[in-house]
Amino acid sequence: MTKLSVVVPCYDEEAVIDRFDAQTRAVLGGLPIEYEICYVDDGSADGTLARLRALADRHPDTTRYVSFSRNFGKEAAMLAGLREAEGDAVVIMDADLQHPPELIGRMLDLYSLGHDQVVARRGREGDKALRTALSRFYYRAVNRWVDVELTDGVGDFRLLSRPVADALLSLPENNRFSKGLFSWVGFDTVTFHYRNAAREAGSTKWRFGALLNYGMDGLISFNNRPLRLAIWLGVTLAGLGGLYAAWVTVDALVTGVDVPGYVTLVAIIVGLGGVQMVMLGLIGEYIGRIYYETKRRPHFLVKEAHHPSSQAPEPLDALRHQRQRELRHGRVI
Ligand code: UDP
Ligand code: MG
Repeated sequence: MTKLSVVVPCYDEEAVIDRFDAQTRAVLGGLPIEYEICYVDDGSADGTLARLRALADRHPDTTRYVSFSRNFGKEAAMLAGLREAEGDAVVIMDADLQHPPELIGRMLDLYSLGHDQVVARRGREGDKALRTALSRFYYRAVNRWVDVELTDGVGDFRLLSRPVADALLSLPENNRFSKGLFSWVGFDTVTFHYRNAAREAGSTKWRFGALLNYGMDGLISFNNRPLRLAIWLGVTLAGLGGLYAAWVTVDALVTGVDVPGYVTLVAIIVGLGGVQMVMLGLIGEYIGRIYYETKRRPHFLVKEAHHPSSQAPEPLDALRHQRQRELRHGRVI
């Protein structure tokens, strides 16, 4: 029988986690599959971890959880969940019930037709108008610049087959921009639409600044085209500068020496200074990324975890189990 793993990153979700669990189990129980729910507590400061412990007590065989030592971000939480997941297919869902659990059945249908990634694409109902407009603009702009296709409304709510999950786990990078990684690994992908639900309880963890930074990650994580742009901008400005210098020289020769042109000079110095700072920042951003990648720090630290007792490895099996996990995670030793 197919086993499905549901991966759920949770950060300060105590208000909604029990409701999420009940609704999701109700859906999963009605499907002809085995399942497990892998919660990842991303360093919540509220009672999320206590709720997860209680859920694991109530459903010890179908609940796993991992709790981080601090907040490492949703990307790290998804990675931890993927590492935990043992199913033939993995569904990644938010804990706030914005990703309707009822759609899991539809995802499984599409999976059984042979698709490796089943992507739920949401409408933007329930989002603020400004955020919607900015998102639209961002996706339009970003798709010109990055090598992978990013689609508005397509997020982390998706089903991944085992090969796709393994492919994602084999990507070693520290800076993980999942939207791009999902698209980068490829495989047979199918998308369906659903109406976005408003958050059931709790509040969004995205502040505007965080969204801007996330957007910048999307632009820079996938290629060096911004650096290429910097070169072209430099060439263009140098060309324009040359033309201007030629024009000033000719003008001075024809009409005699002109007024010194103080304003022009200051404008050019300030303008070019600004452009140089932006380019330096851009280069610095790439260097910073190289710096972080070379440190090879783990993506997260776990302070507590629960695995279903039935699957806890016997002492003799432990080595084999460890070996299997390492093979699965691409760290073959
Ligand atoms: N989340 C997380 N770590 C974070 C921020 C968010 O694990 O640092 C989880 C959060 O608990 C939720 C999901 O990621 O399950 C989506 O977060 P949120 O609903 O705040 O984002 P939005 O739906 O507004 O994009
Ligand atoms: Mg949400």
